[in-house]
Amino acid sequence: MGWEKLINQNKIKEYFQRVLQEKSIANAYCFYGEEGVGKFAFAIEFIRTLSCSKPFWKDGFYSSCGTCLNCQNIANLKFMNIEYVFSLPAGKSGETESKGTLASLPESQFQEINEKLKNKINNPYTKFAIEGATQIKISQIRELRKTLALSNSLPGRKFVIIFNAEEMRVEAQNAFLKTLEEPRKDVTFILLTTHKEALLPTILSRCQMLFFPPLQKEEIKQVLINEFGKNPEESEIIAQFANGSMTRALDLLDSDIKQIRDEMIDLLSITLKKNFPGKEVTEKINKLVEKFDKKKSFIALDLLEQWLRDALLISKNGPNDLIINSDTLVRLEKFKEIFGQKPIEKAIEVVEQSHYLVSANVQIPNVFMKLFLELRDIFF
Ligand SMILES: [Zn+2]
Repeated sequence: MGWEKLINQNKIKEYFQRVLQEKSIANAYCFYGEEGVGKFAFAIEFIRTLSCSKPFWKDGFYSSCGTCLNCQNIANLKFMNIEYVFSLPAGKSGETESKGTLASLPESQFQEINEKLKNKINNPYTKFAIEGATQIKISQIRELRKTLALSNSLPGRKFVIIFNAEEMRVEAQNAFLKTLEEPRKDVTFILLTTHKEALLPTILSRCQMLFFPPLQKEEIKQVLINEFGKNPEESEIIAQFANGSMTRALDLLDSDIKQIRDEMIDLLSITLKKNFPGKEVTEKINKLVEKFDKKKSFIALDLLEQWLRDALLISKNGPNDLIINSDTLVRLEKFKEIFGQKPIEKAIEVVEQSHYLVSANVQIPNVFMKLFLELRDIFF
């Protein structure tokens, strides 16, 4: 990585370039904004540049070298001057309060989390999620305080990155506040959060606050084309659904979004055949949704909804350049020919209701069966 690899957020880049030039490092920062907009990417690059033993100017950015021992150690998770704090899976019942830290996890779990963290450091826009982990415990903050106390003798600036800082409950936040109230010149905290309102005002007031806005669709699209070799059509669809989050875009990249969309449109057209092939529809739905978890179901519904929105736009003779699924123009035109006069808005509503049903834990095959039957009712 390097500053030039970070996706846009130009104001924040300028801010950090100033900080790096003036060497005016704050005691604590709070990066806030939606998931996947670059909060961690900027945090790790900032730390890398400050920790590098041979930083230099590259394309107008004060940058880390990527090859010195410190740079290598950061990439390999061996750099002693960074502490990472994040929610861990709940301990077994009966576990004492002093446990519940990373080191107290079973070896295999510890290794797995370390691998995930290493991946996150080297691909900072990927998702970093640990199953069953929802809370940063007070024991972790106590452990952090001990580690920091011991780090006095380590040379160089120490950094603490707190992922999803809002996952600290009030007791943990109060313990953390104590640490913030005793600032040390050689320690910098970086809190990352999607919900800053869940943090104590007394914590926020001690942080330099930096807002990370959602990324632009076009920015995400360009990254998908240039860095991931995706074609422009697919990149357009993914960028549209990513909703300003590069992490979501990468998630969608793995989901074979185009195939899911095409299968949803196929299902729609089969459902709308004159003689309703009930058995075929049931089989096709079951085959499609057997690989769907909640997340994939949401994606599939979103894709169908967006396609129907395109159909609505075409049926109202809207401008073609607003069409998202422009690679399916032939199908959209044909759909308009047959169903252009039908209430497509109503169909979109029905898809949205299905979204709600999935989140309310209704069986996924039932939701999709109900959906396509209702769509048939609307179009006939
Ligand atoms: Zn270096």
